[in-house]
Amino acid sequence: MLKRKIAVIGAGQAGLLCAIGLVDKGYEVSLFSDRTAANWLNDAVPTGLNGIQQASIDIEHSYGLDYWGSEPVIEGVDLTLVPGDEPGPRLIGRATGPLQAVDLRLKCSRWIEEFETRGGNLVIQNIGLDELETIAASHDLTVIAAGKAKLMGDIFERDAARSVYTEPQRRLCMLIVDGVKPERFPGMKFSALKFHMFPAHGEYFWLPFFHKTGRRCHSILFEAKPGSAMDRFNDCTSGAEGVEIAKAFIREFAPWEYAGAKDMQLMDERAWLKGAFPPTVRHPVGKLPSGAIVTPIGDTAMAFDPIGGQGGNNGIQSAQNLIEQVVAQGDAPFDEQWMIDTFERHWQRFGEASYAFNNLLLEPLEPAAASVIMAGVENPSIADDFVGRFNQPSRFFPWIRDPELAQQHIETFASESLTP
Ligand SMILES: Cc1cc2nc3c(=O)[nH]c(=O)nc-3n(C[C@H](O)[C@H](O)[C@H](O)COP(=O)(O)OP(=O)(O)OC[C@H]3O[C@@H](n4cnc5c(N)ncnc54)[C@H](O)[C@@H]3O)c2cc1C
Repeated sequence: MLKRKIAVIGAGQAGLLCAIGLVDKGYEVSLFSDRTAANWLNDAVPTGLNGIQQASIDIEHSYGLDYWGSEPVIEGVDLTLVPGDEPGPRLIGRATGPLQAVDLRLKCSRWIEEFETRGGNLVIQNIGLDELETIAASHDLTVIAAGKAKLMGDIFERDAARSVYTEPQRRLCMLIVDGVKPERFPGMKFSALKFHMFPAHGEYFWLPFFHKTGRRCHSILFEAKPGSAMDRFNDCTSGAEGVEIAKAFIREFAPWEYAGAKDMQLMDERAWLKGAFPPTVRHPVGKLPSGAIVTPIGDTAMAFDPIGGQGGNNGIQSAQNLIEQVVAQGDAPFDEQWMIDTFERHWQRFGEASYAFNNLLLEPLEPAAASVIMAGVENPSIADDFVGRFNQPSRFFPWIRDPELAQQHIETFASESLTP
């Protein structure tokens, strides 16, 4: 019997996982990428930080794609609220399993090689609308995993009801740096994603990071509220300049961290990113002028603000969902209803809660969430439980939005001892 032919456009982590998974399941897969493996490793800027949770690591492991073992070890989250000039309440929680942040340049480059090794057909080409028409006409299914590329936005209509925002909520600057000394950060208990929340300015967080050269280092991401004192990266033209601006912000607004941050230096000249985009959910069926249909995964389907580290996780989950749905469809056509059902399954199982939780972090802290965080500041079991739920954000709901349910949630820990 002839194998069904599937095309995937875009070799980021979502497209690659999808393409490799489908090859493993016996499909004839062509992956169209505007980058070679060497381009990803040597010429590209990482498209994000890629701090992923245990559930995503497990999916990668199931396809034999977790080449980095447990590097780097990130054991949990260390969150400080900074309401004024001094550090305020601090929640420190251990995750249920290690988190991981591997340089996307290394990850995608290695996975492109693996895709070919396993029998996939790699085509290096920048796909425009004309090429997309040709591809869609010659494949049983065409999956678009091209990130936030403009063309893809034109093909997939924005879902206004689900998107929530029309404007960027933060202005971002991400830096991958060496020379951070976490042992000089006050009160560090373990290797953590270290998060500072400034209600007036935005947030910044540190992440232990595995650089494309195999060196352990750190990444830092600034999530500036537009017009705030943190919103100072707009005009910067190089990562090195970004690092100096970051140091100046920390010296002024988080001086207790300055001793650990003052020697940081950019890892390589492409190890940074700045910009802004509105979180967006798109309709799962893209209609081309010819009438052919295509479907999105990863950032093309749902673009998250990086504040909650959910975008990459969502991309991996959406790729896994698509693979399962392709297999379940057997020989039946990948028609419009199948595309809608496939996205709805992902939305119900992961996407909706992940997006809602992530958006919650963009807003002033709601009373229910604040009460649980404050309880977690006092009680490590509540803190561990809170951090453990990042892995499966649906477990935050419904109590994270409901003060009464949040109180009941806190009381389930009442029999446990409080910290002195
Ligand atoms: C600053 C920042 C920090 C982040 N931190 C985290 C985090 O800690 N945890 C987390 O889970 N997520 C994080 N994210 C989100 C995460 O990085 C993304 O959700 C994820 O990497 C997107 O993967 P993707 O495969 O969908 O898209 P992309 O990584 O954007 O890949 C798309 C690929 O398609 C290619 N392409 C585009 N157009 C075409 C075309 N026309 N033809 C052919 N190829 C094309 C691109 O070159 C690229 O290789 C962060 C994002 C940002 C911006």
